[in-house]
Amino acid sequence: MSQAKLAGKTDQAKIARSEEEWRSKLTPEQFYVTRKHGTERAFSHPYHQEKDAGTYRCVCCGTPLFSSDTKFDSGTGWPSFYAPANRGAVSQHDDRSFFMRRTEVRCAKCDAHLGHVFPDGPKPTGARYCINGVALQLDKMPSPTRAASNAKA
Ligand SMILES: [Zn+2]
Repeated sequence: MSQAKLAGKTDQAKIARSEEEWRSKLTPEQFYVTRKHGTERAFSHPYHQEKDAGTYRCVCCGTPLFSSDTKFDSGTGWPSFYAPANRGAVSQHDDRSFFMRRTEVRCAKCDAHLGHVFPDGPKPTGARYCINGVALQLDKMPSPTRAASNAKA
């Protein structure tokens, strides 16, 4: 497999790295999904059934994107959330690839492709953010008992 043609295209992002920089920083699958708009296989990533509390960060730049508080089991095999961690965390883009009209979701900070958002989610938002597990890094919260002995502020 030759990958002779690497387009020297750079897009305007708040965190701008070259394709080579991303490639060296990420695993091949992370690179494929986040920088090449790929999609992991359904049920392939353990985050689709992750139940622990914490913050899901962008695997590329570490920005908090989703909270476990808004995670729900969509049955699709991808981690699903009904809202982003905060309003500005992700950006949305029209995606007309594959003869479908979908809304792509990216990390607002580094433009990493995360997944898509659909209007068939649960209350209170009705949105379903269908996100690739490899695009995320779960920052687990310490368990409440531990935090207590840790002089929690
Ligand atoms: Zn990012």
